[in-house]
Amino acid sequence: MNTLNEVSSTLNASEILSRQRKAFLKAEPPTLQQRKASLAKLRAAVIEYRSELQVAASEDFGHRSYHETDVMELVGIVQSIDYLMRNLRRFMKPEKRHVSLFYRSASAHIEYQPKGVIGVMAPWNYPISLTLIPFATAIAAGNRAMLKPSELTPQTSEVISRMLAANFSIEEVAVVLGGPEVGAEFSALPFDHLLFTGSTPVGRKVMKAASDNLVPLTLELGGKSPAIVGQGHVNSRTMTSIAYGKLSNGGQTCVAPDYALVHEDDLEAFIEEYNATVSRFYPNGPDCDDYTSIVNERHYARLQGLLDSAKQNGARIIELGIKPESAKNRTRTLVPTLVVGAKDDDAIMREEIFGPILPVRTYRNIDEVINYINERDRPLALYYFGEKDADCKKLLRRTTSGNVGINNTIIHVAQDDLPFGGIGPSGMGAYHGIEGFRSMSHAKGIFDQGRWNFPSFLHAPFGKFMELALAITLGKKKSKS
Ligand code: NAD
Repeated sequence: MNTLNEVSSTLNASEILSRQRKAFLKAEPPTLQQRKASLAKLRAAVIEYRSELQVAASEDFGHRSYHETDVMELVGIVQSIDYLMRNLRRFMKPEKRHVSLFYRSASAHIEYQPKGVIGVMAPWNYPISLTLIPFATAIAAGNRAMLKPSELTPQTSEVISRMLAANFSIEEVAVVLGGPEVGAEFSALPFDHLLFTGSTPVGRKVMKAASDNLVPLTLELGGKSPAIVGQGHVNSRTMTSIAYGKLSNGGQTCVAPDYALVHEDDLEAFIEEYNATVSRFYPNGPDCDDYTSIVNERHYARLQGLLDSAKQNGARIIELGIKPESAKNRTRTLVPTLVVGAKDDDAIMREEIFGPILPVRTYRNIDEVINYINERDRPLALYYFGEKDADCKKLLRRTTSGNVGINNTIIHVAQDDLPFGGIGPSGMGAYHGIEGFRSMSHAKGIFDQGRWNFPSFLHAPFGKFMELALAITLGKKKSKS
């Protein structure tokens, strides 16, 4: 089967799209069994290529632990596929809808039809799962797919491309490789649906490009997700979850807590506990095997720049955890860092951080927290630590974010039955759960007129029967007097 690399290198993306569309239109929509077989093939391929994917991701990042690639990417893919296989029969089932008395004895139902060819654009931070979970969703919904992974993780993209070529035909899935120019071309193709995961500024460009062909979009974007720690709730459970969300993958996670809002009485306890937690996570310091590097020099310099400018503006920069006696000086290791007292107009409080730096801002009451969040873009995730008390309920009621984690960070993404997506600048639409299947399906409403049908008596010439029907529906006509 291994023809994709050869074929896709001689065809451009637009030619691949025509080829996939032709194949889609020629064939019957795949059956439940065929979709499950494709999903099972993808699952087996991921397991078979596990080691190659781990090595490639680590080389692309400079260093990334194999455990991290397993836990944060491969487990998620396998669980998503299993979830889709378990639920697909239910998802695909036609749905009966109500017909009002007036139109009886007709019936109405929805059939979920594959849209056709789905475009998937992926970022570099989780280069495997953010390419393959959308692909799994596309095939579960009976579609073909074209994937455009990130140029910043080229070795991982190469393994994905080779792995899919060995298991699927180019009419089923094709991988298009390249940087922003290829991305721009890709986003302008007349797909039947486009799922883009990446930054908000590039998301804007993608939406503009897709609008020329009126391509329906799912945008999975970024932003600044706050972690709010309720008064008196700085404890080991809270700090473990915040550190886990902030430091996994070197902080390069779309739903990582970007900054913390901590009650002013708890600030010093927060600094102390966070430091202790970081030391517990990385007992040999950040040069250890379990800590991921920053993906490239540009991002490393960007993060250093955020720290430098916050420091210049008077913020306290606190490096945390164990300082090893003899550091291995691994490539682009950025020490877990707290930033206390950054100004609201500092870049670090305005831009998505995407690294192991956690600014901490203090508050006095929950209304101040709510106002702070509502004055900014709606976040992709919001985290609250504390009791499910009145403050927590008020915060949830009065703020809008893609998702919420209570006493937890980032694990909501692993809940296959929850929709995952942002709102406004953090995204549009969602996938995972039935929402993912539906976003890549067309919900076709079908009205089936029965043999004996009330409205069939209501055409011209209008007469007594019509009068009766109107009296039943609209009531007796009132005479003007
Ligand atoms: P990015 O927007 O730079 O790149 C994403 C994809 O778009 C890549 O494939 C890239 O090649 C392509 N691209 C770049 N410039 C383009 C252009 N002008 N036109 C069309 N395509 C173009 O994002 P990134 O740096 O790879 O990833 C980090 C961002 O992604 C962060 O903002 C993060 O929050 C976000 N993200 C969001 C989610 C989510 O699920 N919501 C998940 C992971 C990452």
